[in-house]
Amino acid sequence: MDHVDSLVCTLCGAEYDPDQVIYTCPNHPGVKGILEVTYDYDRVLDRFDEPLDGAIGSQWKYRAFLPVDDDVEPVTLGEGGTPLLEAPRLGAELDVDLRVKDDGRNPTGVLKDRATAISLTKAREFGLDVVTCASTGNAAASLAGFSARGGFDCRLFVPGDAPEGKLAQPLVYGADVLGVRGSYDEAYDLSMAVTERFGWYNRNAAVNPFQVEGKRTVGHELAEQTREEIPDWVVFSMGDGCTIAGGWKGFREFADLDLVEETPRMLGVQAEGASAIHDAFHDHDDADEVADTVADSISVGRPRNAVKACSALEESGGESILVSDEEVLAAESLLGRTEGIYAEPAGAAPVAGLRKAREAGIVEAGDSVVVVVTGTGLKDTRSAMRAGGEVTAIDPAIDDVVERYGDAD
Ligand SMILES: *Cc1c(COP(=O)(O)O)cnc(C)c1O
Ligand SMILES: [Zn+2]
Repeated sequence: MDHVDSLVCTLCGAEYDPDQVIYTCPNHPGVKGILEVTYDYDRVLDRFDEPLDGAIGSQWKYRAFLPVDDDVEPVTLGEGGTPLLEAPRLGAELDVDLRVKDDGRNPTGVLKDRATAISLTKAREFGLDVVTCASTGNAAASLAGFSARGGFDCRLFVPGDAPEGKLAQPLVYGADVLGVRGSYDEAYDLSMAVTERFGWYNRNAAVNPFQVEGKRTVGHELAEQTREEIPDWVVFSMGDGCTIAGGWKGFREFADLDLVEETPRMLGVQAEGASAIHDAFHDHDDADEVADTVADSISVGRPRNAVKACSALEESGGESILVSDEEVLAAESLLGRTEGIYAEPAGAAPVAGLRKAREAGIVEAGDSVVVVVTGTGLKDTRSAMRAGGEVTAIDPAIDDVVERYGDAD
């Protein structure tokens, strides 16, 4: 891995060997000294000889940028390479020039697959065969799917209130699913304690320095796909904050290396009931730690990556905004009926945030915007039913159809 320099602590600057299994900087007991992977970009560029022609088979097109050993066979289900769709009807509704990056089309239905593939490829490189994480659902399902693919033992800590569809999926993938009677934050603390005691490989967002590196590929892809017309804004939802941080880092790298001409501003969207990153970005220090929102994937009380997320917003000249649960559900149905894209609540939250940002004058009429849909709606049918309205019951009689649509001419 001579294209990877080191792991650097974001708090004290201490450096660690990237070939060592380490999660956070040990110089800060009780505090999270998040580690950042740094690269030798001359070496990265030497290794990168792919044409930026928009043909993206999977995220492994950007292998030169990924912190994995050349000799290791990746654990992959073909993640990444998701489409960037023009969204004229939704764009007209919101009065912007809109495109949608549909990352719900990843193998387990979520952008997190990009990160999971890297985590498990690292686990393979380190020779570890038991893996774990804490998750409100999507990370668990993703880790379980890729574990099955790579032949790992997968043990998951899931909070009691995760949607049923998201638990069915890891069970089918053959994982041990441990339903923790408690919150996501409690499940998370337990998974960390377990990692320390048993040495299982931990995919948890933020503390695993490699997993977030996989999320950069959504930024690489966005840069490549929008190269001819870089948007004014890219909109992400924020839970722990890794996704927006990774997406920004990927896009920025391509601009730094002159592969694209400029960078977009990042718009980060959180739910009113889980607003810690927004609060930190706007210097409100009254953030309570209890998260409560229909958008379960971003229902995080204590985000593990608020620092990196705030840097992404700041460096890009971006903004953050809050949306209510009603606005999220309305956005889920608006996205579905205008563009045929079925998102889970956290995947539709950026659409709600964009509408709010238009109303607040943050995003202006006619701006060019890319919304990133992070997860499919297929796993969370209960929320979808709340968003989508009701079935119309009729008798098996032609008269009932005539009554609804009028008779044939
Ligand atoms: C995890 C997740 C997010 C948020 O990502 P973070 O890295 O936690 O900010 C957003 N949407 C979906 C669908 C997710 O699963
Ligand atoms: Zn440190």
